[in-house]
Amino acid sequence: MTEHCSHSDHASCTLPSSEQVANFLDQAEVLCDRRNLRFTKLRKQVLALVCKAEQPVGAYHLLDELRESGRSAAPPTVYRALDFLLEQGLVHRLATNNTYLACAHPQHPHAAVFLVCSVCGHTQEVHTEGIIAELRRRAEQFDFAIKHASVELTGWCGRCRRSQ
Ligand SMILES: [Zn+2]
Ligand SMILES: [Zn+2]
Repeated sequence: MTEHCSHSDHASCTLPSSEQVANFLDQAEVLCDRRNLRFTKLRKQVLALVCKAEQPVGAYHLLDELRESGRSAAPPTVYRALDFLLEQGLVHRLATNNTYLACAHPQHPHAAVFLVCSVCGHTQEVHTEGIIAELRRRAEQFDFAIKHASVELTGWCGRCRRSQ
């Protein structure tokens, strides 16, 4: 799970604890309840796996993990669960490498900017409304209304740069 963290060195960021994952799942449950949506067992399991992953994960990785936990699901079922989580803003999808990651702040809809390390895959979600507002303004000049905005920047994280 990506967190909003103020560490300048992300090497110090650790995996979410099981408590954090449980909190996130509780939050998701409340959110679905409020929207009158069913947070099915599979949706919950998929979200838990995405949360626990150290890096953004692909659908096939999730299928493998589900199989290991004794629940084999067909690919379309997992894709549907992921679509649901995307629609509810609980996860984001990275087009760069076709992976999914848990949203660091699912309570409100937002455009996101991601910093994706092309070496280790570490991904950080950052809130920079200023940039999105600027893109929106520029798009309007071309008579274009942005419906969904996701900016992915690829590069090298500090840890990978320093270990070269
Ligand atoms: Zn987010
Ligand atoms: Zn890296």
